[in-house]
Amino acid sequence: MDLFEYQGKEYVARFGVPVPAGGVAETVDEAVEVARTVGLPCVVKAQVKVGGRGKAGGVRLAADLAEARACAEAILGMDIKGHVVHRVWVERASDVAAEYYASFTLDRPNKVYLGMLSSQGGVEIEEVAATSPEAIARLAIDPLVGLDLATARAWVADAALDAAAREGAAALLCDLYRCYDEGDCDLAEVNPLVLTRDGAVLALDAKVTLDDNATFRHPEWAAFAATETEDPREQLARERGLTYIGLDGTVGIIANGAGLAMSTLDVVNQAGGSAANFLDIGGGANAEVMANALEVINTDPNVRAILVNIFGGITRVDDVARGVLAALDRVTIASPIVLRLDGTNAKAGRALLEPHLSDRLVAVPTMLEAAATAVKLAEG
Ligand code: GDP
Ligand code: MN
Repeated sequence: MDLFEYQGKEYVARFGVPVPAGGVAETVDEAVEVARTVGLPCVVKAQVKVGGRGKAGGVRLAADLAEARACAEAILGMDIKGHVVHRVWVERASDVAAEYYASFTLDRPNKVYLGMLSSQGGVEIEEVAATSPEAIARLAIDPLVGLDLATARAWVADAALDAAAREGAAALLCDLYRCYDEGDCDLAEVNPLVLTRDGAVLALDAKVTLDDNATFRHPEWAAFAATETEDPREQLARERGLTYIGLDGTVGIIANGAGLAMSTLDVVNQAGGSAANFLDIGGGANAEVMANALEVINTDPNVRAILVNIFGGITRVDDVARGVLAALDRVTIASPIVLRLDGTNAKAGRALLEPHLSDRLVAVPTMLEAAATAVKLAEG
C-alpha cells in the first residue's frame, strides 16, 4: 500500500524522523485554518500518490493567509498526471539551505536492504542515477544487523553531505531505517531531506510503501487503508474472490495456478504484447469462477483480446469448457477470446467448445501459439 505524503510523514515521525509541523485539509477554509495554526510562511502541497508534484504546480509557498487561501484554491481539484487532488497538506515552510535524497528499500537479488543517500536531492533519483550515478552512496544493510549510528555517520560522509548536516542526517537515517524495518515498509524515501539555514535536518517529503504482507501485524494501518482508492478492477475481483492484479497492457489473461499465470505473462511479452492483468483462477475453475474472471477482465477498457490458458490437473478441462460457455451466456464479452486448453479431459473439453468456435472464440493447441494469436488480435 502506497501512502500519501501526509500519511508517510506521520508514519516516519512515529519513529522519530523530524518533519515540519503541518496538517491535512480537504477544503480551502480548512487549509487556511491549518495555515493559521502552523504559522507563516507555509507551503501548500497537493496530496496525490504520484511524483513530480512540485514541477506540476502542486507545491506552493504562501507568505500570508490570503496567499495560503489562493494556493489551496489553485491546488484542490487540480489534476496531476491523471490524479485529482482531494486533499492538501499545509505545513510551516522551511528555510532550505540544501536538499538531499535518502531511501531504504529491498535489494532482492542480494538479499539485503539497500540504503541510498545523495547530496543531490529534490530531483528524481532516477535522474541522478542516469546523469551522475557516482553521486549516490549505496549502503547494503544486513537485516539481521541493522543500521547503527557509526555506520550512518560514515555513510553521510561518503555521500558528501554538507558538514553541518551530517550529525542530524545520521540520526535521522537511523530513525528512518527503524521505520523501514520495524514499520514493515517496502520503501521509505525522503526526497528532499533538507538542511535548514538554522542547522536543522528534516524530511520535507516522504514516500512510504507499506509491505502488504505485514498487514496482520499492524491493525493501525486500517486508517491508511481507509483513504485508499482501489483500482476498480481489483475491487471487483476481490469482491468475487479472485486473485487478480491489474496491469496496463491490452491482453487479458486467465490461467489456472500462479506459475502458469506468470508464464503466460512472459509468453505474451515474448510474443510482443503486454498483459492487462494477472489472474489466477486457482484449482476450482468452474463455470461460476470463469464467468467472474471474464466479467472482471471485461470491465477493463484497455483489453483488446483475452487469453485463457488452462492446464488441467485436478481442474478438469471439460469443466472449464462448460465454464467458458456458461460465462458467454451470462456476459457479453467485448474482446475476442483465445483458448489454450490442455491436460485432464482436454479432449472432452475441446469437443464441447468445437461447435461454438468463431473468430471471437478461437482454440489454439499450444501456449506460444495462443499467446501469438491473442497478441495479434489485440493489435488488430
Ligand atoms: P514532489 O515534487 O512531488 O517530490 O514534492 P516535494 O514535496 O519533494 O516538493 C518539491 C520541492 O518543493 C522540494 O524539492 C523543495 O525544493 C520545495 N519545497 C517544498 N517544501 C518547501 C519548503 O518548506 N521550503 C522551501 N524552501 N522549499 C520547499
Ligand atoms: Mn519529493
